[in-house]
Amino acid sequence: MKRIVTLLGKNRNQARFLTLLSTYKRGRMQFVLSWSTGESTTRIPQEGKILAKQNLNRPSVSVDVVRNHVPCNLCNSNERKPFCPENGLGLVECLNCGLVYVSPRPDANELYALYGETYFHNNESGVVGYANYIKDEGNIRLTSNRRLKHLESFVKPGKMLDVGCATGFFIDEARKHGWQVEGLDVSSFAIQYAQEHFGLNVQHGALTDLNFEAGSYDAVTMWDVIEHVPDPTAYTQRAAALLRSGGILTLATPDVGSIPAKMAGKRWVGYKLSEEHIYYFSINTLTRMLNDAGFEVLNVRHVGKYVTLHLFLDRLGMYFPWLAKALEMGERAFNLSERALYVNPFDIVAITARKK
Ligand SMILES: [Zn+2]
Repeated sequence: MKRIVTLLGKNRNQARFLTLLSTYKRGRMQFVLSWSTGESTTRIPQEGKILAKQNLNRPSVSVDVVRNHVPCNLCNSNERKPFCPENGLGLVECLNCGLVYVSPRPDANELYALYGETYFHNNESGVVGYANYIKDEGNIRLTSNRRLKHLESFVKPGKMLDVGCATGFFIDEARKHGWQVEGLDVSSFAIQYAQEHFGLNVQHGALTDLNFEAGSYDAVTMWDVIEHVPDPTAYTQRAAALLRSGGILTLATPDVGSIPAKMAGKRWVGYKLSEEHIYYFSINTLTRMLNDAGFEVLNVRHVGKYVTLHLFLDRLGMYFPWLAKALEMGERAFNLSERALYVNPFDIVAITARKK
């Protein structure tokens, strides 16, 4: 097999496919998982951990930045133990409440610096950000409509604030449903896009730094946000302050306690190989945080999203590379790459809660 690979060395894809095949035959799946596109791995000397894969085509926190230990954001305890150390992300688990988070870590400014334009368009979306968020607009709008329908079973359209609104696809859909929408995002690129393309009322910054009218919102939404922010407790408290009594907060985040996360171990897609996700919630820790902020949890479910077949196979390849490679041949043969399908991996939890 090695000889065939060498012979076909001019065609990288064929060579890779054959390498995968031969690796699969030898049963060495670990090797396949480390197979990638030529990036190098950097070690942090003081921690001795693989903290970030360096690649010029994608955003990342610089390796020599100052990192400090932080107390648990949920219960303030400093008692912690390593969590899934084999994924090399520097995760710890609070011994008191079970919250999983990154510690030590860089300060908030370094973390927010990740969200430039390259975050929404880069070559390493399995590692950080999105391959092409804007090109995926159609699927994001389909997902948005599905989530709006669910939200509207708890609260009828009124005033909405979308935290982490990105390029505004969700609130643009919400507006069509009759919502009076506002949004915010730490990415100036995304905010500018939302203003220029859809004329949306959106602000650049963090929820905790911007001014909004307290007690005036019927719904606050945070899709895939809470795992990124330095102080999620402050975010949920601020959401409570902005909502009217009886207003609804709905959010989604990777579920570290889900069965797929536990089964996949260090290979779980939720463990993006960067410092993009700094908190990993379970249903328990998320429920506790919402209760502490003055919410009553109304609904907990695992949600999916509409994706192209191409992205689905890309992610499938992280777990079952041989299966993904085989299906990719069919995808190309029948030209199905951009076909949308709703995929629920049952590892993203969505919680809907009412302000008491
Ligand atoms: Zn804790």
